[in-house]
Amino acid sequence: MKFPETIRTNCPFCKQHQEHEVRLSRKGKERTMNRGRRKFEEVKRGYGSIPRTPKKQVYKVGKRPVFLLKCKVCKKRHQRSLRARTKKAVEIKS
Ligand SMILES: [Zn+2]
Repeated sequence: MKFPETIRTNCPFCKQHQEHEVRLSRKGKERTMNRGRRKFEEVKRGYGSIPRTPKKQVYKVGKRPVFLLKCKVCKKRHQRSLRARTKKAVEIKS
């Protein structure tokens, strides 16, 4: 799938249409002290490993790509995800 390098779309900070730079968003590092992790550690206490039955692996066909849009005027970023799932890797081309 191909996606343009720059698009003209609404900026939630400028509250009007502006040119945006497009990048693919990647998952960042997980914080070790976040709410979910703390809760999980609390549940896990006294068991050594995982107290629940492990989840089955589900294989989904494709992913929903998430784009990181950077406004060229106010330089702020916001995200946009596509509704459609793509099997092929997303290319960002001018
Ligand atoms: Zn803006």
